[in-house]
Amino acid sequence: MADQIIVEANGARIPAIGLGTWQLRDEACFEAVRWGLEAGYRHLDTAAMYENEEPVGQALKASGLDRDAVFVTTKVWPSDVAPGNLERSAEASLKRLGLSQVDLLLIHWPSADVPVADSVRALANARRQGLARHIGISNFSAKLVEQAVAATDEPLVTNQCEYHPYLNQDRVRAAGRRHGMAFTSYCPLGRSGLVGDPTIRAIAEAYERTPAQVILRWHVQQPGTVAIPRSGNRGRIAENLDVFDFALAEDEMQRISALARPDGRRVSPAWALPLDEAA
Ligand code: NDP
Repeated sequence: MADQIIVEANGARIPAIGLGTWQLRDEACFEAVRWGLEAGYRHLDTAAMYENEEPVGQALKASGLDRDAVFVTTKVWPSDVAPGNLERSAEASLKRLGLSQVDLLLIHWPSADVPVADSVRALANARRQGLARHIGISNFSAKLVEQAVAATDEPLVTNQCEYHPYLNQDRVRAAGRRHGMAFTSYCPLGRSGLVGDPTIRAIAEAYERTPAQVILRWHVQQPGTVAIPRSGNRGRIAENLDVFDFALAEDEMQRISALARPDGRRVSPAWALPLDEAA
């Protein structure tokens, strides 16, 4: 398989395709992560909220890979982002993962109760304590990215947000880029709905690739962009990583980006802060 793209951002080196694990639990999660590492994934995405950090850690250990070879991300749920609680949440995640440090610790969603500056300072403190090599944010709007960056001298390395061809994220992507951050696309396949899109299918046929591979190639071909597709299927796990030996033409990239539509967002929990407000 061709070499993977590594995204460099504020001192972090992040493999451009990671394995998402949301909704994978217990044995199914262990197997998916094991298959992923066997297929060549070197980036795993979990969260305290996914209740699967134990099988993720067990599969990592069972792989026999050097700890330094795999980039592991976990996240702190908004109920736990107050100073003190955040560090405790990170310690509990490490215990479940069986690791002494994660590569990346994210605030999973901005909290409606704890000011961004307080939670980001707690995140920076977790890094200083050695719980995480790098820190970042998730589901932060452009405006909240600015608040987060202003709250600490510690570098934030990514903002993990929903992104796929049906959802334009230009504004929030630009906000992170201004501060040297990567952008991590979650729900990169639009929860698989996009694979039936006629434009994507036509491009996939021309390259003799699958629609999912075309979508993931569109992600990683955008500078500073990481994607974390999830699958519980061994064949699709391998398929989703196999995107580093072809390239889309600029007009194809643009045709795919032009599929964005106003109702493209898939993830907008009622309790979350609005993601679209003006910066
Ligand atoms: P995805 O866009 O990754 O879609 C996952 C779905 O696509 C599954 O139903 C999967 O089914 C299917 N699929 C995977 N590969 C293929 C393929 N090659 N062809 C066709 N269908 C495919 O959605 P997610 O919401 O899971 O997002 C990915 C990850 O992002 C999550 O697992 C999680 O780690 C992270 N995330 C983070 C959030 C945050 O708030 N920070 C929020 C949501 C997600 P099957 O298993 O059968 O292959």
